[in-house]
Amino acid sequence: MTATSNSKPPRTDRELSNRILECANLGLPRTDFLQEVSNMLMQFFGCDAVELWLEEVRTQARCETTRRPKKSFNYRVIERLKGKGAKSTPVSPSDTRRETFCRDVLRGKIGPADRSFPRNDVFYIFDSLPPYPSLAVTPLRVGSKKIALLILKSGRKGYFAGKEMAPCGRVAQNLGMALANQRVQAALQERIKELTCLYRIARVMERPQNPLDEVFRSVVEALSPAWQYPDIASARIIFDHQGYASPGFQESRFKQSAELIVNGKRRGSVEVVYAREKPELFEGPFLKEERHLIDTIARQVSLFVEQKETEEEKELLQEQLRHADRLATIGKLAAGVAHELNEPLGSILGFAQLAKKNAAIPRQAEQDLNRIVSASLHAREVIRKLMLFARQMPPRRTRLDLNQVVKEGLYLFEARCARQGIDMGLSLEPDLPEVYADATQLTQVLTNLVVNAIQAMPTGGKLSVATRGDPEAVTLRIEDTGEGMSPDVKKQIFLPFFTTKEADHGTGLGLAVVHGIVSAHRGTIEVESHVGRGTRFEIRLPLSAHSEEKE
Ligand code: ADP
Ligand code: MG
Repeated sequence: MTATSNSKPPRTDRELSNRILECANLGLPRTDFLQEVSNMLMQFFGCDAVELWLEEVRTQARCETTRRPKKSFNYRVIERLKGKGAKSTPVSPSDTRRETFCRDVLRGKIGPADRSFPRNDVFYIFDSLPPYPSLAVTPLRVGSKKIALLILKSGRKGYFAGKEMAPCGRVAQNLGMALANQRVQAALQERIKELTCLYRIARVMERPQNPLDEVFRSVVEALSPAWQYPDIASARIIFDHQGYASPGFQESRFKQSAELIVNGKRRGSVEVVYAREKPELFEGPFLKEERHLIDTIARQVSLFVEQKETEEEKELLQEQLRHADRLATIGKLAAGVAHELNEPLGSILGFAQLAKKNAAIPRQAEQDLNRIVSASLHAREVIRKLMLFARQMPPRRTRLDLNQVVKEGLYLFEARCARQGIDMGLSLEPDLPEVYADATQLTQVLTNLVVNAIQAMPTGGKLSVATRGDPEAVTLRIEDTGEGMSPDVKKQIFLPFFTTKEADHGTGLGLAVVHGIVSAHRGTIEVESHVGRGTRFEIRLPLSAHSEEKE
């Protein structure tokens, strides 16, 4: 396990002491160190088992290493001292005499002056019950403070009584120092690993533009080296049901985890697992410091997500604002042009129709006049749409039932849908509250959205139209399973004359008109679209009609 395992066994107590002190400086995990040292003691004293009682800060731990079965190691936290008067559980409840004796040695109730037990220099010899009838017990000190109890155990009766124990005093003294030193070394080692981990994580989070999945992956990689047993540790972050794991991650019951809570909502967790069992410590096989660390990291990750999402939301709002601004500017321009053109167009149409009434005009001229009339009518339609977009045609509102508008409007499309292999699904909420709106304009909205949906499904699909009501608004939803649009197209759809269609299929005014009408009704439009999957438009019209009625 360590460098010391392979070297030759120490022959003198001085050599053993040195070996123990060296081992304490390696920065091994606590339990690995205890096991290592116990093995050295067992070998040196030729005994069959070594037990250590350790007075830790708020807990007492005991470990036992035995020669048979082959150098088995058993570590247990046997008592948690939660305040005064907490009771401890004996290691072997049947042998209370032994337990009391050991406890008295540790508590200093049996001192050097005590004659009741044969004492050999530092070790108290005690005749116990099988399987280990001979014990040699000594408290381990740092300065005058007792920090542990060492119990050497032998299966042979009178084993220690016949042994020269005097030189072992030095070993006991050094072992006390080694235990204290090891704790500091191990804590330092853990602290360094912890700080390295936190530093690496801070570096990743420094740049908020880093994509989330990249951040999760880096955090996961930084995690496992910071735990006490990095070789068997792996880590995973689960966020919004998506997992990001370090290489070789496997579910295990030796797990420590902390929740990711973003804006008060649980979104996932950070987990560290051990592949194999390790001695029970503060929380399963984990240290108290590791609990703090994983909690800190979970908090930092949550905070990072929170900031990133806020940032993105802000960006989106700004983009929407810019978009609305652009549309408003174009609207003003369109309104100006439409007004200017309306007058001359009226005259052209009027005079062309007048000229047609003249019975004496030649056939050719009449045909030309017809062309002028139909072209002018087309132009007038474009202008009407532009004015709708620019909100130059104020809605003529009445109280109306949106369901009624939908039913009448869709009626016109039934035949066309059937012909094109489109399945039309209607889901109208009964008892929809009435809205205060312009029926003709709402019909126009519906028509434009449905036409687009149908055009997006040239080889058939499903068209769903639904209405919904809540205390504040009514919602109209139109969804298709058509070709969808790219984010780039989606950005431009409300601009007048923007189209991706052939000249005779679209003028690019449909959605501009929808936008104009919905804005005039103080409503909102939401669009969701995925290329190859379909598109959903959701129009929300507020019910705050009463203030408008006064207008
Ligand atoms: P037009 O239909 O005349 O092209 P619109 O303003 O109605 O103009 O739509 C603008 C563009 O938005 C369309 O050309 C199309 O690219 C896209 N679009 C609108 N609705 C849909 C839809 N349901 N599915 C896919 N693309 C759509
Ligand atoms: Mg259209």
